Amino acid sequence: MARAVELSSMSPETKTFRVGCVITDKDGKELATGFTGEKEGFHAEEIAISKLEGRRAETEGGSIFSTVEPCHPRKSGKTSCTSHILTLKLARVSMCSMSRRLSSRARALKRCVPTD
Ligand SMILES: [Zn+2]
Repeated sequence: MARAVELSSMSPETKTFRVGCVITDKDGKELATGFTGEKEGFHAEEIAISKLEGRRAETEGGSIFSTVEPCHPRKSGKTSCTSHILTLKLARVSMCSMSRRLSSRARALKRCVPTD
């Protein structure tokens, strides 16, 4: 998570949310990273996941670390980061803080927790 926090500090200070994200394999090896503002119009998690193209299988049993609760749902109508995350076969979703937006609070968390 320290790496995700470090990445979040690379986000422009003008952004409402300054999010850092790291995806690792099952052994903790860093596979991809993203941060707010790295690619305009995309969330940190989306950016990191986009960097996995052709290597998504390496995420099986791995983890994603995001400094803020991944979005879900998304006001713009675009696919939420939570939905993108659930397309991976990660063993763990870790976040530093919950969303400040009441509309999405804990929805991502509830979707990521196995219910069976
Ligand atoms: Zn998002």
